Amino acid sequence: MDNEDVKKAHELDCQIQNLLLKATEAREFSYSPYSNFKVGAALLCQDDSIYTGCNVENSSFTVGTCAERCAYFKAISEGKRKFKAIAIVAMQKKWFTPPCGACRQLMSEFGQLDVYMTKPRHDDVLVSDLKRLLPYQFEVTDDKTFE
Ligand SMILES: [Zn+2]
Repeated sequence: MDNEDVKKAHELDCQIQNLLLKATEAREFSYSPYSNFKVGAALLCQDDSIYTGCNVENSSFTVGTCAERCAYFKAISEGKRKFKAIAIVAMQKKWFTPPCGACRQLMSEFGQLDVYMTKPRHDDVLVSDLKRLLPYQFEVTDDKTFE
C-alpha cells in the first residue's frame, strides 16, 4: 500500500461515506479497558444492509475479538453471506489500521470485498481490498478428504 491508495472521504461514493460514519459510531461502543485502543467496523452486505462491530476485550486476553469479526459474526448470524465492503476506524497517529491476519482469514471465507480504513474525524481514507491484503488466500478447492 502506498499513498496512491489514500483518498479523500468526500470523493468516495456516498454509500461508502455512510459506511465510514457507521464504523466511527460503532467505535464509540468499543470495550477496550486493557489496550485503550478503540476500533469500529461497519460491514456492507450485498443487499445493502449494514452490520457494525467494535473490539471487545476480556481480562482473559484471548477471549476478546476484533471489531471486524464482531461485525461479520453479527451479519452471518442473521443469514448474510455476501459482502461488498468493510470500513474500519481506529486512531493511530502515523498510519491507518488494517485488519489483523485473523480477521483477513475470516473475511476470505466469505469472498472478496473492498476495505476502507480511516481515523475518527479524519478525511483521509486508505482504500484497498481483501485480495491485496491477503494474497494467496487459503482455500480448499478439492474435496474435503485430506490424505
Ligand atoms: Zn482482527
